[in-house]
Amino acid sequence: MPSRRLDASTADAGLPAVSMVGVNKWFGDFHVLKDINLEVEEGERIVICGPSGSGKSTLIRCINRLEPHEEGQIIVDGHQLTDDLRQIDKIRSEVGMVFQNFNLFPHLSVLDNLCLAPQWVRKMPRAKAEEVAMTYLERVKIPEQAHKFPGQLSGGQQQRVAIARALCMNPRIMLFDEPTSALDPEMVKEVLDVMIELAEQGMTMLCVTHEMGFAKAVADRVIFMDFGEIVEVAPPAEFFASPKSDRTRTFLSQIL
Ligand code: ADP
Ligand code: MG
Repeated sequence: MPSRRLDASTADAGLPAVSMVGVNKWFGDFHVLKDINLEVEEGERIVICGPSGSGKSTLIRCINRLEPHEEGQIIVDGHQLTDDLRQIDKIRSEVGMVFQNFNLFPHLSVLDNLCLAPQWVRKMPRAKAEEVAMTYLERVKIPEQAHKFPGQLSGGQQQRVAIARALCMNPRIMLFDEPTSALDPEMVKEVLDVMIELAEQGMTMLCVTHEMGFAKAVADRVIFMDFGEIVEVAPPAEFFASPKSDRTRTFLSQIL
């Protein structure tokens, strides 16, 4: 029997989802990202940790150009990030982002928050956008909240709405910036469970988090940043059992 042809998506296999080569960034005189080199494979789960102010947020914000970088190359899903606005729009529509403080539109219902980008960026008819939105609200287990406003939900529910909103755009990569840091402790698990499920479904993920249980459970690699540098990259087993750098050891002793 003749072998089946590969479909179009597998033709991309081997191309990194994100590639950062010699990336440097400054805020004025302050050198915030120092010679960052990082390749993230499709389907890979990366956890980024490090002290406050070490450049973690800036690094992931550069990946969808919420921050411009001054030196080096960032290639996302085969597209190089430059000042070209069409390219930036294209990349943003493929990269979902979840923030510490949810960033939902407070004056829009949950359903309207989810339908906004599919309708206006993807030109999806409203009925279809609602159908997609409800599918993702079910995935994050809060379909009954669709007609409420963000302010009427708990922090954990709001963050699950934010994740569902990002997923409605069918992103190829998800960026998380400390998604559980603003939550009361009892709500952390409900958000991590959604992220774990997403990881198990094969989503490419870069997560800034200090939830080391999450890192051990799902990360393929853990990155430790300090003073704008990637100090150490290792699979979680190795990262936690035998960190190579003194700086990593000191950090781990403070948070574990
Ligand atoms: P982290 O997420 O690891 O806490 P950030 O990437 O947010 O660190 O910030 C790294 C450093 O850059 C910090 O010292 C912060 O104060 C500084 N910084 C972040 N954003 C800006 C900005 N827009 N302008 C000037 N400095 C900034
Ligand atoms: Mg940060």
